[in-house]
Amino acid sequence: MAGSTAFQRARGKPYAETFRCPGGALCLDFCNSGQSARGPSGAEWIAGFPELIDWLEAAEAITRGQAARLRRAAAASPRAAAQVWGRAIKFREALFRVLNARTEGGAIAREDLSIVEAEHARAVSFARLAWTGDGYSWSLDPSAESLDAALQPLVESAVSLLTSAKMERLRRCGNSTCYWLFIDETKNHSRRWCEMASCGNVVKVRRHREKARSAAH
Ligand SMILES: [Zn+2]
Repeated sequence: MAGSTAFQRARGKPYAETFRCPGGALCLDFCNSGQSARGPSGAEWIAGFPELIDWLEAAEAITRGQAARLRRAAAASPRAAAQVWGRAIKFREALFRVLNARTEGGAIAREDLSIVEAEHARAVSFARLAWTGDGYSWSLDPSAESLDAALQPLVESAVSLLTSAKMERLRRCGNSTCYWLFIDETKNHSRRWCEMASCGNVVKVRRHREKARSAAH
């Protein structure tokens, strides 16, 4: 699971932010890696298949051995790897639109759900049941060598979130220019910002300025 150690592992990478301010589910951290790509610069934090594997390894979504196998497969078929990366980004944006629409009470596009379903159908063949101590969970086949296997942990996380009661606690940051998604795990359902120190303060300062401006008129 992502957290401060994942942040240490990702330090210096553009996507390190996704671990500094975790969303509460692997698929949300992955959605949050699109923060910059959706903004004015359009810069993609996960710039290719190698970065996707680095991110998954930092998040501990795949093991070091799985990462090494996927990197070898990518080196042998760079064009196929680039295509899988393209699908990962397309999946991320479709999932973001579905989740974002939920937080805003907006309409969900059938085609976005179809993208998630299609990736789920692909990823299922790489999923194995693994005992976790108190139950079984789906995990990536440790011997999977196919490039497609890279998406399995992301798709599994997305489908289990979408079908869980946690959806009621799904929030988007209250700063309108921030796309950060998170599960509000506070007892009184009060979390409004990805991070108070950044977006919470930005909005407070903006409101303060607006008040001062209207008072001046
Ligand atoms: Zn924010």
